[in-house]
Amino acid sequence: MSYPKVILKRGKEKSIKRKHAWIFSGAIHKIEENKIENGSLVYVCDANENIIATGYYSHFGSISVRIISFSKAIINEDFWLKKIKVAYQLREQLELTENNNTTIYRLIHAEGDNLPGLIIDFYNGVAVFQAHSIGIYKEKNAIVNCLKKIYGSKLIAVYDKSGETLPKYFSENIENKYLYQSAKSIDFCGIEYGNRFNINWETGQKTGFFIDQRENRKLLSKYVKGKKVLNAFCYSGGFSIYALKAGAKAVYSLDSSKNALNLVSKNMQLNNFKDINHQLIEADAMDYIKDLPDFFDVIILDPPAFAKHRNAKHKAIQGYKRLNEAAIKQIKKGGIIFTFSCSQIIDKATFISTITAAAINTEKKVRILHQLHQPADHPVNCFHPESEYLKGLVLHVT
Ligand code: SAH
Repeated sequence: MSYPKVILKRGKEKSIKRKHAWIFSGAIHKIEENKIENGSLVYVCDANENIIATGYYSHFGSISVRIISFSKAIINEDFWLKKIKVAYQLREQLELTENNNTTIYRLIHAEGDNLPGLIIDFYNGVAVFQAHSIGIYKEKNAIVNCLKKIYGSKLIAVYDKSGETLPKYFSENIENKYLYQSAKSIDFCGIEYGNRFNINWETGQKTGFFIDQRENRKLLSKYVKGKKVLNAFCYSGGFSIYALKAGAKAVYSLDSSKNALNLVSKNMQLNNFKDINHQLIEADAMDYIKDLPDFFDVIILDPPAFAKHRNAKHKAIQGYKRLNEAAIKQIKKGGIIFTFSCSQIIDKATFISTITAAAINTEKKVRILHQLHQPADHPVNCFHPESEYLKGLVLHVT
């Protein structure tokens, strides 16, 4: 078996030697075949036409090839089984696979698991598959077969949620659907550190749940006993539930989405919390925070990515600055702010300087107590720093 060859300009093989998984269109000298379909497998060659990698080709966007193997490989079910087993073994090592207290984890984190373009989240037996490239999407049946082999009877269903992550021209012709059996997401319950969450992978945001905040939610528990907590951008109310469990005096869950707030109510019931010390607020977070009296001891700011593309970076920085400045101004003396950015293009240093700029404008004293990030089931590939996207700071404000 062979694949068409993509030949690089002289010197452009260096990024592959450094194991970076993307080939940009400007690095390509020529393509052996005139017509390569989007998502086709190709061999990547150096200028002397030696095969140095295997990947998926795309006509769209600036990334022309996503590398799936840094050698000449044949991509078949055996290949996938080996790769997915390696990812599974890491989650075993992290004690996530046989854990009754936490039944929710990320099995495949794209480049972080050396599988560019592939996300698989595992919710208590239901695997949610999300392809970010057409090449990966085309492999879905082989990938489902591997999941069946790895999980056996523990696999309840596999759901494909690629409709929102593939290029538009392609996703118009596909629908999100079950690839293996089915499950009722409407009353499906996943567990995270003993807390119960309804996860609706069909109608929810992303694959249904923000698994990436697990360890940060746990850390919040240390800071909330007897405190008034504002969970801004709350989505399913993850931080709120941890706060109530840890003895917060009052928790306000704020989101601009009604569906998100309905989900919070559902999760409150699942965890047997009554409404006495919990309130839902449907509002724009910035509007709400800028007019706050100094009422809250703890504020969580976990907005959606303000910048999805490089050219939106500076506008995003302004957005983070305004939001954090408002929270620093309005929080009680001695208060704690958990602040996050999940924009991939805002790196940690930029995020810290943005928060510093916000703090300077408030004339308050701000100290950083913790620097937070994504958990180990969202590994960061050293050769692909873009796989690090979640950054957070715990601030102490006086
Ligand atoms: N902290 C959450 C994840 C947050 S996702 C968790 O732990 O699961 C970001 C959330 O911000 C989404 O629910 C989205 O509906 C909400 N959102 C987006 N823009 C907003 C705005 N301007 N004001 C308030 N909420 C907003």
